[in-house]
Amino acid sequence: MSDELTAKLDRIPDPKTGKGLQAAGRLDGVAVRNGVATIVLKVEPDEAIDRLKADIESAAREVDEVDRVQIITTLQRPAGGGRDKAAPRQASAAAPRPARQIIAVAAGKGGVGKSTVAANLAAALAKAGQRVAVLDADIHGPSIPRLFGLRDIKGLRKTDTGIEPADAHGVRVVSMGFLTKPGQPVVWRGPMIQGAIQQFLNETYWGDPDVLIIDMPPGTGDAQLAIAQTVSIDGAVIACTPQDLALDDARKAIAMFEKTHTPILGLIENMSVFLCPHCGEPSEIFGHGGTRAEAEAIGVPFLGEIPLTIELRERSDTGRPVAFDDGPVADAFARAAMAMLDSAREARKPAPEIVFSS
Ligand code: ADP
Repeated sequence: MSDELTAKLDRIPDPKTGKGLQAAGRLDGVAVRNGVATIVLKVEPDEAIDRLKADIESAAREVDEVDRVQIITTLQRPAGGGRDKAAPRQASAAAPRPARQIIAVAAGKGGVGKSTVAANLAAALAKAGQRVAVLDADIHGPSIPRLFGLRDIKGLRKTDTGIEPADAHGVRVVSMGFLTKPGQPVVWRGPMIQGAIQQFLNETYWGDPDVLIIDMPPGTGDAQLAIAQTVSIDGAVIACTPQDLALDDARKAIAMFEKTHTPILGLIENMSVFLCPHCGEPSEIFGHGGTRAEAEAIGVPFLGEIPLTIELRERSDTGRPVAFDDGPVADAFARAAMAMLDSAREARKPAPEIVFSS
């Protein structure tokens, strides 16, 4: 039965090489047991596989004994320079990779402190001696210019070397907010979001930073898609608050990244406990620990807790993220930033091969 199924699957051409799926080495396992066909398919990062899955499913259903089809995908990420192999595609073919590591910070909805977390993770890395850049792709409410004290920047200069980022405390910053007037949000349609993000990624003179942090717009699939089509990213960090509703949104954000095979580097719980500015006493205003439990439940790393503090809110208007300085909040961001890099290192390791015996 498995042989018959494998033969049928081998009639489906591999979209990349044109060879049959078996001949192209795309099948890691094929088994039929108790009416269930299980097919383990190797996929590349960012590969669109909906069509292929549909073809596999109909081929499997041609086998008499098969009532149900289960397709397991294993992400192929060769060790070492694997990501570079996956990176050049479409518009980016001629563009250098914007940074050694590219990490997206996302949230399922606005207001959970995603931009605050993105800015402070960048600041924490810069404080630790890394060369850092930030791309603010949050079209709907770009707050990176305010957080980094770059509110006065209007427009972006383009020279022979590319779009020039702004510099804030040594961090290179490009923001959609530099192109729009404050208080006048532009209605961006999907293709415009994709075009702008691709252009910023490809045409900015980033100066080879160690880490590029991308502040993603909340709750849209367009930005995820644009990034996946432009560069291979190391992964995404999801910011959420302890409330159940925010965790539901975080799950949606995770699902969006999974569609583009982007590794989830972990969850960060923001506004975790309230630190009293007078006595430092913590109180759990929105509850506490929900994000850690959620991360454990879905099997992704938990990167840390950022307290709710008046200092953090006030400092977001001064143009210098807290994490550049010292103190308990800066320490919390430093720990989360290091956990994020550890997780990115893990994500770069080759995926384990799943071998099915039939
Ligand atoms: P998002 O990017 O998710 O829309 P922001 O980062 O713009 O959210 O944060 C929304 C508001 O919450 C801002 O006024 C910010 O200063 C405040 N804020 C975010 N995180 C914290 C925190 N941990 N403690 C206090 N205020 C916070």
